[in-house]
This record gives sequence, structure tokens and C-alpha cells, in this order.
Amino acid sequence: MAKFGGSSLANAEQFNKVKNIVLEDKSRKYVVPSAPGKRCSEDYKITDLFYLCHAHVQQKIPFNDVYRLIEERYLGIVKDLELELDIEKYLKEVKENITNGASADYTASRGEYLNGLILADFLGFDFVDACELIKFDESGYYDSETTDKAIYQVLVKESREKGVVIPGFYGAMPDDEIKTFTRSGSDVSGSIIAHGVKADLYENWTDVSGFLMTDPRIVENPKPIAKITYKELRELSYMGASVLHEDAVFPVLEDGIPINIRNTNKPEDDGTLIVGENKSDSIGAITGIAGRKNFTVLAIEKTLMNSEIGFGRRVLSVLESHGVSYENTPSGIDTMSVIVDDVQIKGKLDKIIKEIKRTCNPDSLQAIPNMALIATVGRGMAQTVGVAARIFGALAKESVNIRMIDQGSSEMNIIVGVENHEFEKAIRAIYREFE
Ligand code: ASP
Repeated sequence: MAKFGGSSLANAEQFNKVKNIVLEDKSRKYVVPSAPGKRCSEDYKITDLFYLCHAHVQQKIPFNDVYRLIEERYLGIVKDLELELDIEKYLKEVKENITNGASADYTASRGEYLNGLILADFLGFDFVDACELIKFDESGYYDSETTDKAIYQVLVKESREKGVVIPGFYGAMPDDEIKTFTRSGSDVSGSIIAHGVKADLYENWTDVSGFLMTDPRIVENPKPIAKITYKELRELSYMGASVLHEDAVFPVLEDGIPINIRNTNKPEDDGTLIVGENKSDSIGAITGIAGRKNFTVLAIEKTLMNSEIGFGRRVLSVLESHGVSYENTPSGIDTMSVIVDDVQIKGKLDKIIKEIKRTCNPDSLQAIPNMALIATVGRGMAQTVGVAARIFGALAKESVNIRMIDQGSSEMNIIVGVENHEFEKAIRAIYREFE
């Protein structure tokens, strides 16, 4: 099972690379494409243009000019690949539907739909519309049971001679209305198909050779990660390292199907393998370092906090009542810190402080802004003595002041809080220690 991202299918040249990859290995039987992405950094993504068309119709503004860009891209690909497919017919039909007020989801999904038609034709594969396979319930929630049954009926029950292309990003509601996943959702489609057909492997082809140990904008040439567990990835992606849609892991997680992130432009690279469990190796090693700036720490002090029943709950319920989620809550005997993302707390901080003061009556409550969080993650650090000491030692050597420390109960993750301006220096120091 192979999913190809938008940059892997942005033009005819990329389509050719995809064809070589798919036809090289017979086990690549199910292929899930994204819509054409950017051909270079200033380029546009076809999905964005489709959303733009919909917005134009909503505002009753003609969308011919935007649609022309979409047409040009698909017509160009079909022409350059010398296909006989009548893509114009489909483009016309889609344009008509958008003009007649089709939904945003329908409109956005056409990027994958049209690309899927082209790719199927180019590969000589069957085209199966995602509407037949991926199902949502009346409320718009993904319906795994109905989906699994549909995939079994359409793809698994009768064995097909040819491979199959299934467009990513969308499925259908019970009334056949189209529904999309959130942005980058073709990753999720790929995962669902891999689960449904019980694939051995879910290959996710993109434009990077998997994950790097840390952000290459901060550390020059960081090492690639050959293997990472789902949990480690979660810890790292949570902190901002995003190559894969968050929801893409769960459908395959339960079956133990590994996900292999590969690079369409460098198919010789092994990429990163994401696995369920990996007990075998890397004692004492770390897998990756990720972080993000701009958090605020609410530092709360109250004598005898430890014996006051319900104190923590009251603090957190104030946040809850303002719809704010928190990242960590390191605590001491008479102190508790709550760390929140600035985006979450924007415009609400004063009210939250007032309310915590009223409901919890702390001795002091301070909001400390401009904090960065850095997560050092590695299955190899659990039950290994000395990893924390190495992290703190490396930071001390660079005179980075650690404002907060938090170790997850899995012992797979040590989070330190530093001031925003020391963020990059801190990441470099930790990387160098474990390189
Ligand atoms: N084309 C969709 C998007 O741009 C979905 C995807 O690429 O995965 O979000």
C-alpha cells in the first residue's frame, strides 16, 4: 500500500517517478494519491485553489480565473504524459457542480479525485472512488466499521488482476454527500486503506527521506531516524515535527502495520520506519529532539498545597471553563506550574488569573511568558541511568538556564523549559551530546 503526497504528483515529471516506484514492486497494489502540490516554493497547491473557487462562489464572485489555473495544471499533466484520458470532460463537470453551489468538501476533494483518475490511467490500474470505500456517519464522524466492510467487499473479496488507485482525503456520508478529512488528510486515507486490506506495510511517499533527529534549520545536517515507535513519534510530532497527519497512525497502529516514510525524489533512501514496538535496540540513545517556542507558565504557590484536596482540579477546571488545554503540570510540595501554549491563552490570561485567585486562593500566582519547551525523546532512555544528567550537563555547559523539567511517566521523554531566546542554543547543545 503506497500513498503519494502532493509534491510527489505535482507535475508529469513527478508522475513518472511515481510510476517507476509503483511498478518496480508488485506488492504496491493499492495507491492513494494526494492532489497536485507545489512544483516549487512559490507555487500553489491545487487543493488551496479549489477552496478558493468555493469561497468565490459563496461571495458570488466569478471564479473562472482561479479555475483556469486548476485546468492548466491537470491538462498539462495529461498532455505531458501523453494520455488519452478525457480529463476535460471531468474538469467541466466539476466546474459545473462548483458553479451550482457544491459544498466546500466536495469542491476540495476534486483535487484528489482528478489526480486519481489521471494516475490510474497512467499506471494502468483500476480507479476506485474513495466514496465507495471510506464512510462517515450522519454526524460526519469517520465510521470504521462500515468502511472496513466496504473495503473488504470492493477491494479484498474478489482478487483483482490490476492494482487500484483510490484518491485520498475524502469519503462519503450515508446520503452520499462528500466529506473530507482535515487538511493533509490523504495520509489518513492511506492508513485506512492499509488497515482495510491488511497490508504488510504502509508506504508514505513524500519529499523528505523520513524524519531527522532534529530541525535542520537549527542543527546542520541532523542524522536521519531509521526507526521510531508510534509513541516516540507522537511525543515528537506533538512538539511540532510534522511530516505525517496526526490521525494517520491510529488505523494501522492496532494491526501493527509499520509506516515507512519515503522520498519520491530519492527512492534509494530507506526513509524512516514507524513501528508499534521496538524493544531490541538503542539502550541509552535518544531518538529525536523537538520543541516549540511561546508558552506561558502559570506558577502557583500555596503553603500546604499538598494536603489541600482538590486544589489541582480547581486550577485546571478554570482552564477548562475557558476552553484552554494545557501542556504540562510539573508540581512541587507547595507549588504547581501549569504550562499553556500562548495561542491557547491569548486574550484570556487576565480572566484566568483572576479566577484562579478567586477559586484557589493561592499565596502567589505569576504568569511567566516567553518560554520554550524542548522534548528529548527516546525509547532507549527508559530505565537507562544517566540520560537526564547528560541533557542537563549539556545545557549547563552552554549556560542555558533550565526553567522547568518534566519527565513523562513512560520515561521516554524529558521535557525542559527554557527561555525563548535560548531555544536554538539548547537544542544544539542536546543534539551534540547525543549525536
Ligand atoms: N490535498 C489535501 C490538502 O492539501 C489533502 C492532502 O494532501 O493530504 O490538505
